Amino acid sequence: MNETAPSPTAPLRARAEIDLAALRANVRTLRALAPGAALMAVVKSDAYGHGAVRCARAALDAGATWLGTATPEEALALRAAGLPGRIMCWLWTPGGPWQEAIEADLDVSVSGMWALREVTRAARAAGVPARVQLKADTGLGRSGCQPGEDWAELVGAALAAEAEGLVRITGLWSHFACADEPGHPSIAAQLDLFREMLAYAQARGVRPEVRHIANSPATLTVPESHFDLVRTGIAVYGISPSPELGTPADLGLRPVMTLSASVALVKRVPAGHGVSYGHHYVTPGETTLGLVPVGYADGIPRHASGSGPVLVDGKWRTAAGRIAMDQFVVDLGGDEPEPGSRAVLFGPGDHGEPTAEDWAQAAGTIAYEIVTRIGTRVPRVYVNEEPGTSTATTTTTTADPAGTATAAGPAVTADTGKRSGT
Ligand SMILES: *Cc1c(COP(=O)(O)O)cnc(C)c1O
Repeated sequence: MNETAPSPTAPLRARAEIDLAALRANVRTLRALAPGAALMAVVKSDAYGHGAVRCARAALDAGATWLGTATPEEALALRAAGLPGRIMCWLWTPGGPWQEAIEADLDVSVSGMWALREVTRAARAAGVPARVQLKADTGLGRSGCQPGEDWAELVGAALAAEAEGLVRITGLWSHFACADEPGHPSIAAQLDLFREMLAYAQARGVRPEVRHIANSPATLTVPESHFDLVRTGIAVYGISPSPELGTPADLGLRPVMTLSASVALVKRVPAGHGVSYGHHYVTPGETTLGLVPVGYADGIPRHASGSGPVLVDGKWRTAAGRIAMDQFVVDLGGDEPEPGSRAVLFGPGDHGEPTAEDWAQAAGTIAYEIVTRIGTRVPRVYVNEEPGTSTATTTTTTADPAGTATAAGPAVTADTGKRSGT
């Protein structure tokens, strides 16, 4: 979570440009889709690779009122960076920093009795009640308390701790397994069980501030899942949770990250020249090769060797041969772009560049993994950081062949937030 970031014009080896106006517009679009619910921006894993502190601030500027992380360390780092409001974290292990979390006024998730014991002990030591959210497993089969006896025991123990002044049960919550597959029967089944487990806890006297189950795909496609709060991650970053749900544009979203690199070398080679480790690509004729100076250490998936797309000098090229740790090669087919030209691996797509979804398809994975794995060696460059600025789908200039212009024109007119789809 570096607080200093390079300027959009610095001549960098590689950069992940983060368009905070797009992020704010996405948050506004999501809020419009779930008007009765508060919005939690999920900023775990350094905001899916986009930079947690700046993205969290931008999300709050656009009306998110909660931040969510997986680990308590991630949540504590946000608080230490001065982020206000409600911050929830859910991935706890025994011996975790419960007391620090209570003192930082975090909401903590509890899925089982061991966690409730640890949090009540920490609350006693801190002398302040812990904000506890009880998590139900309504069918994901991952974390969360099982329905039936386990839920009865956990709810009973949490109420007893609340009566002692050690915890405040602020939330009841769960998580979907298949919300990205519209109409999957588990969606309705999980909602039914969630309602049942809520009703049980509320009948016993739990008075939660928030009940929540919706992630991005449910926020986009299952309105009856919104309850009091929606927890959106991937959609905040402008990426569709699944191609089945449509493109980002179909959903009124705009991708926030543009990943590009500076072409490091262009050279003419003869026919029959092996390219990169293992010689899995051999030039079919005399051609030119371009060196793209990013590799799997930067999060470029090695599984996309021979298939990953990149826009160079206005044309789509494909990673030729193996993607190495720090670099890969594209066959430029005789073209000779200047060294220093931008090679755009992915971005919103409206300047002809590939998208994170294209890389996901090339690597046999999901776009979540593509953006999240972009490594710390790639500087994040923030554009449109001021809340007043907005971004227009038609005027950003991410594909800049000379590699010299400002990456995205700040403060242009159109507001993508007004395109909120339904
Ligand atoms: C990651 C996560 C989310 C956000 O999921 P998206 O599909 O990215 O919106 C929500 N809730 C929990 C518990 C998560 O772990």
